[in-house]
Amino acid sequence: MDFELNAEQLRWRGIARDFTETVIKPDVLRRDRLPTAAERIPWDWIRAADKLGMRTLGVPKQFGGAGADIMTMCIVGEELAAGDLGFAVIMDQCWKMAHILADAMTPAQQQKFIPPFVADAEATMSIGFTEPGAGSDHQGYYDAPEIDFRTTAVRDGDGYLINGSKRYVSNGCMAKLYFIVTRTDPSKSLREGGSIFVVPSDTPGFRTGHFHEKSSQRLATNGTFYLENCHVPAENLLVGEGLMARLRAEFMWGSKAEAAATVLGVGRAAYEYALQHARARVQGGKPIIKHQAIAMMLAQMAMRLDAARTQIWRTAWLADRRRPEARTLGLLAKVNASETAFEVCRQACEILGGGGIMHEHPVEKYLRDAASFLHSDGTNQVCLLRAAEGLANPASADLYGF
Ligand SMILES: Cc1cc2nc3c(=O)[nH]c(=O)nc-3n(C[C@H](O)[C@H](O)[C@H](O)COP(=O)(O)OP(=O)(O)OC[C@H]3O[C@@H](n4cnc5c(N)ncnc54)[C@H](O)[C@@H]3O)c2cc1C
Repeated sequence: MDFELNAEQLRWRGIARDFTETVIKPDVLRRDRLPTAAERIPWDWIRAADKLGMRTLGVPKQFGGAGADIMTMCIVGEELAAGDLGFAVIMDQCWKMAHILADAMTPAQQQKFIPPFVADAEATMSIGFTEPGAGSDHQGYYDAPEIDFRTTAVRDGDGYLINGSKRYVSNGCMAKLYFIVTRTDPSKSLREGGSIFVVPSDTPGFRTGHFHEKSSQRLATNGTFYLENCHVPAENLLVGEGLMARLRAEFMWGSKAEAAATVLGVGRAAYEYALQHARARVQGGKPIIKHQAIAMMLAQMAMRLDAARTQIWRTAWLADRRRPEARTLGLLAKVNASETAFEVCRQACEILGGGGIMHEHPVEKYLRDAASFLHSDGTNQVCLLRAAEGLANPASADLYGF
């Protein structure tokens, strides 16, 4: 095994770390406390990240992106999330979908959708699975035709008519390019009768609803939106009718490792802040880091973070090589990283004492942010159940992917 990062990965880590220190950290707490989701959207940071090439990190080089591998996205995601998880998620949604742009689209689809995305410095991407009646039930663990997943796409002349609504979706109502999960055959389960369409936000019939207000990832949006007799041409169908599960399994290799890396960044930020505080804060006649109770907590935090990062990097390494074990390991890495980050943030709160919940310190924000990934990208319970299926029967993991 070789744990050295290559020159390109080190370069991107430096760019992201510098962005976090100079752009995100100085203003993030103020922005986090702005009252409405709309005013918190960091359009200026998105434009600045675009100039550095981060927004298009995963876009193939021939279309003007960086063509980065999954490992690089994990590294950059961790660095950005150490500044703000919400901003890292805005970027990561673009990276996750970039895998689809690169690998799942036909050359004609690439020509149609990639150049406008690259040209628009504020453009982001978003994938809509979740609906009011189908949260965990779109994850493929309970895969029965009768689940309450209602978005349908029905053949209509030269295209499809999409009807339905989505909720909680990351980058929802701010993105320019949507990937919409539909049922093309409602008599079948989602695994067998699900199809994904590309829907630009200016498509007639696509209607934004509202941003959900929330305690975590406050700079990112989670939106509800509607598709009302939304006609899309047949060429907007990805991979083929009924092949949604195949698309997930074969073209979304980065999803879980990248998600895990972002929440890990929050845990790291909490650890680093608590360490600094423990060195400076004197109680009981010495810096609190000299008290074993605090020192042991810090050692545990470092231990947990390092173990979670190692697992993420192994997942990314496998995913970059399209190795099937990356699917089950990715589910486990996401569960482990989110639980690690949440626990590390909780310990950081304790090390800060009363300051752990005060607005003078960022730790209460870290704890709020870490909580989001216990449920995002599939709840941890459902991720574990899916992983258990994959462990019991490795071939089953291939059926639904990430
Ligand atoms: C920050 C954030 C970002 C998100 N981004 C997106 C996005 O970009 N796109 C998108 O489509 N969705 C997104 N979601 C939605 C997310 O995928 C769902 O919230 C998640 O899948 C859970 O669905 P639910 O909220 O309806 O909870 P439910 O499915 O109602 O789950 C409630 C509880 O029941 C448990 N449970 C449910 N089913 C089972 C089962 N079969 N066996 C055992 N336990 C079960 C769950 O583990 C959980 O504890 C996001 C959510 C969050 C919080």
